Amino acid sequence: MIIRRYKPGEEEQLWQLYHDTTHVVNGKDYTPEQFERWAPSQVEHAIEAAEMKIPSLRELHADLQQLCEEFGGVRYSAAEHFLAAATEPIELEGVYLGDFEIRLDLQRLGDARSLHNAYTIVALDPHPAGSNDAVTHPHVSDEHLCAGDAGAAIGAALTGGRICDFFMLVGSVLTTYNPDSPYVSLSEWSGRPCYDCGYTMADAEDYFCNGCEESFCSECTMPCMRCEETYCRGCLTQCRVCGDSFCHGCMTTCPECGEPICQNCVDDEACECLEEKETEEKQEPVAR
Ligand SMILES: [Zn+2]
Ligand SMILES: [Zn+2]
Ligand SMILES: [Zn+2]
Ligand SMILES: [Zn+2]
Ligand SMILES: [Zn+2]
Repeated sequence: MIIRRYKPGEEEQLWQLYHDTTHVVNGKDYTPEQFERWAPSQVEHAIEAAEMKIPSLRELHADLQQLCEEFGGVRYSAAEHFLAAATEPIELEGVYLGDFEIRLDLQRLGDARSLHNAYTIVALDPHPAGSNDAVTHPHVSDEHLCAGDAGAAIGAALTGGRICDFFMLVGSVLTTYNPDSPYVSLSEWSGRPCYDCGYTMADAEDYFCNGCEESFCSECTMPCMRCEETYCRGCLTQCRVCGDSFCHGCMTTCPECGEPICQNCVDDEACECLEEKETEEKQEPVAR
């Protein structure tokens, strides 16, 4: 991806776009119910949103200058009408996530009800969760940020025309881990799903089946009752004589009747066919 930097002088074009798209926003166009839907618990912010503020060209210019000081990679795409700022590479609790670009779609600023859709979070060097490629950050899924408690402040920055504040607020959500509401928790980030039940395992609780060589959770694996190696349920066979589960290598056939039984039962001469034979042998003299 070629990242073309925002150039001084582009702010006028940017401002025009900003103005055109937000100009249509007028508090009188929206009912309190509509605002209620947009941000249920933030009616006050919603009412504020009715008076969406368009920064003056001078304010926008100062804001963009500050933005360039706060973020290294600020760029503006006239074709896709977005203003974007890139974060530094982010690492949370020892999990490396890479750098992200916050893209603010200026054309979407016009609708106060969909401000949460006005921006996307694009992973520039994706290190997604092992269990879900769409989750590139504990709080980002399909490029959508779950801003949590910061959502109201982010919305207020957008409606207030405070562009730099908006990027800084989103940046701070990206650099903070909230363990209460992640799409995928950091402790399970690199964990793979169990091949059998799909449960996402933390690295330490990952069991390897010696038969099919897939990863399973502790619930879906068992040791073979003879060799004690770990196997998944699909790779173990239950011996019909003793009822225990064995790997393919520890299952064999009864040398007398040829039925599949475990090696333990062969060693113990426990197959039912031997019992029957013994009984027959004992009963034979009585029958005569
Ligand atoms: Zn499982
Ligand atoms: Zn297996
Ligand atoms: Zn075995
Ligand atoms: Zn057996
Ligand atoms: Zn037998």
